[in-house]
Amino acid sequence: MSEFDYDLFVIGAGSGGVRAARISASHGAKVAIAEEHRVGGTCVIRGCVPKKMLVYGSMFAEELGHADNYGWTIEGKSFDWPTLRDFVNGDVDRLEGLYGKTLESHEVELYAERATIAGPNTVKLASGKEVTAKHILVAVGAWPLKPDFPGSDLCITSNEIFHLEKQPECLVVQGGGYIAMEFAAIFNALGSEVAVVNRSDRLLRSYDIQIVERMLHIAMERGIDFHLNSTIEKVEKTDEGCLMVHTGSENPIRADQVLIATGRKPKTDGLGLENAGVELDDKGAIKVDEYNRTSCPSIYAVGDVTDRVQLTPVAIREGHAFADTVFGDNPRTVNYDHIPSAVFSQPPLAGVGLTEQEARSTYGNVKVYSSDFRPMKNIFSPHAERGLYKMIVDETSEKILGIHMIGPESPEIMQVAAVALKAGLTKQAFDDTVALHPSMAEELVLLK
Ligand code: NDP
Repeated sequence: MSEFDYDLFVIGAGSGGVRAARISASHGAKVAIAEEHRVGGTCVIRGCVPKKMLVYGSMFAEELGHADNYGWTIEGKSFDWPTLRDFVNGDVDRLEGLYGKTLESHEVELYAERATIAGPNTVKLASGKEVTAKHILVAVGAWPLKPDFPGSDLCITSNEIFHLEKQPECLVVQGGGYIAMEFAAIFNALGSEVAVVNRSDRLLRSYDIQIVERMLHIAMERGIDFHLNSTIEKVEKTDEGCLMVHTGSENPIRADQVLIATGRKPKTDGLGLENAGVELDDKGAIKVDEYNRTSCPSIYAVGDVTDRVQLTPVAIREGHAFADTVFGDNPRTVNYDHIPSAVFSQPPLAGVGLTEQEARSTYGNVKVYSSDFRPMKNIFSPHAERGLYKMIVDETSEKILGIHMIGPESPEIMQVAAVALKAGLTKQAFDDTVALHPSMAEELVLLK
């Protein structure tokens, strides 16, 4: 008989926590998991999944806009936000159910309540009950960070945007990162007036500048109003119930909703980590070693709460590696090199490896191959939008250092292109590959 109630207690049933719980259980561990909101976490409930479904909704709106070029006459078309919203949220409910079933089928005990740490091996539940575990895994994720300005309580975050009662006629978005660019594009395509307020003129800081400039140009052409080098000073509600967004330097912007998308903070407040001597960094993220172990030997952490790479597939890998290490007799770490990522704006952009700017400062001499083309699909569209693909290679070895692209379906293409970087391929391998015609991906083997 173990001296503990469980071998593993996981706090947080998001992507990293559920994977860790399921794999640990399949290695024979007795596992419990606590979740204070909904099983599935940010990605499934209020992030990647419902966002991508809204992106599909906005792509449909875009296509419908030039249906006549495909020979269709559509009379009396109108858009009903609650229908799309409820359809998306219905699928979120379905996925939440599937996640719950996965836990059940692996005999992971679910506590649908908040859990905090009371000691190195003790968890306190909101009900007051205390349970013990040989190991505790903290996988509570991150939470939107709202700058403090008068009226910030009138603004929403990505948590609330999936549940809006009405489609905003005018949406102001603060920030120039992933969430800002994705929701600006979604609501622009759905017919809202969208303004973006960003504190600098650098959007999507981690992406290649030329690709981001192309995105900015296209977004402006599509009617998104950018207020760069600008910040929200206050938001006021008028007697008519609309919001006035004051940026200091110009006339206030009228809005029905203001979305704050200025980054996410590890959700460590009030978690009781001090009761077990778990150290945090200066951003409040849990410090872990390469095996996801915290400064308390019985406590581990994975995913956004550690603020390494805030991406779902990374959290999943960390959760899996934790389970294999601690319960599978297979100590392993996660390799963070060459992680592909994408912004699901319209059109989407994607990247892997070093940007041109990073490669030049790291390697000095690099070669850049590119293709600037009009995707065939865009011929149907009134927008004369062009795609741009770039490959950055080391000048001496021709080894690929980075691939960056903007254009329809670029995330789908990028997933495969990332394999080339991971495998250490050179540009020659792409040149040797026969093009698949007609496709957009073929531009990757025709780069000049
Ligand atoms: P990001 O880190 O992507 O962007 C934050 C933006 O807000 C930046 O433009 C930043 O400016 C600005 N900002 C930060 N602090 C302030 C402030 N105090 N006042 C004004 N502006 C500020 O964060 P997001 O919230 O968009 O997304 C959070 C994370 O979620 C992402 O980093 C990503 O890891 C993940 N995510 C991934 C997605 C995907 O994979 N497609 C989609 C959505 C989210 P500056 O650049 O000057 O710092």
